[in-house]
Amino acid sequence: MKYIIANWKLNGSKSLLSEFLNQFATHSLHNYVVLCPPHLLLSDLDNKHIDNFFMGSQNVSEYNNGAFTGEISAEMLAENKVFHSIVGHSERRTLFSETDEKINIKIKQLLSNKITPILCIGENLEQRNTNIFKKIIDVQLEEAFKNIKIDDQTIIIAYEPIWSIGTGITPDISQIIEVHEFITTKIKQLYPKNVNQFKIAYGGSVNLKNYHTILSSKAVDGVLVGGASLDFRSFYEICNFKN
Ligand code: PEP
Repeated sequence: MKYIIANWKLNGSKSLLSEFLNQFATHSLHNYVVLCPPHLLLSDLDNKHIDNFFMGSQNVSEYNNGAFTGEISAEMLAENKVFHSIVGHSERRTLFSETDEKINIKIKQLLSNKITPILCIGENLEQRNTNIFKKIIDVQLEEAFKNIKIDDQTIIIAYEPIWSIGTGITPDISQIIEVHEFITTKIKQLYPKNVNQFKIAYGGSVNLKNYHTILSSKAVDGVLVGGASLDFRSFYEICNFKN
């Protein structure tokens, strides 16, 4: 079973969500599917009857409660039965000044509310071209998990090279495997006893042409899909990946 995660970003509507939910309710799912729409749409859901289908948020506050206008806490997500949350997406890091330190606090908030973090990491084009991408990923992982103890929770890490997000350019499968293996080695160092709880997904311009090759690799536990997740037919085909 693979993890198929949709990131709708600032897109979608009540009607698009209800189209997806109606379709999912009448189709069976072979993989573990998480749909992350904008926050306002999370409360609309009635997904109890859909096997293997879950909702996730695209972000979470590092704060529990208080005078933090515009924020939504992990506790509020859990109260609304949202048990998955993307954290550290590159758009949040670059456009909203999300630092590794904040991401670390957000992961702590999520884990203490029993929410599965979907941690996004990845290098930009310059870091790839100057061959420092592994160092970047190493630091992102080290900082994200600083002083965090893991119980029995699942944690999803999405390797999302920034140069691939929304560009139509994807790394070769060998480059994806190289980074996923690097991440696995790092997780073994950080959490030798919990390594099987970590799932490593790939994200960046996943579409109908490339998803099969990417998901066929044993090193890839799933995909995070942006643009192609807004069209039900495309997303559903990816959701139904079989080896
Ligand atoms: C993303 O935003 O996480 C993403 C992978 O987007 P896209 O699939 O559109 O590249």
